[in-house]
Amino acid sequence: MATSPRVDLSEFDPKRTDRAKIVDGVAVPCRICEAVFARIRPTWRYCAKCEKGFCEGEHGNFAIGGRGSCIQCGKHA
Ligand SMILES: [Zn+2]
Ligand SMILES: [Zn+2]
Repeated sequence: MATSPRVDLSEFDPKRTDRAKIVDGVAVPCRICEAVFARIRPTWRYCAKCEKGFCEGEHGNFAIGGRGSCIQCGKHA
């Protein structure tokens, strides 16, 4: 359907990172929700460092210099 947002719930792929998918307009699951809570929460935010998706506010911050940073990479930022 052209009107429904595209979501890719497959596992993280180093050859086509979450960043690449999101830039393409495809939502990915927050990798932290997936790993810690085993739940799927689609997001269009990605970490500029590890290029994995995260849900804004809870597991990352998109405000640092306009670049996203997940809580795993952003602790020292
Ligand atoms: Zn999350
Ligand atoms: Zn990260």
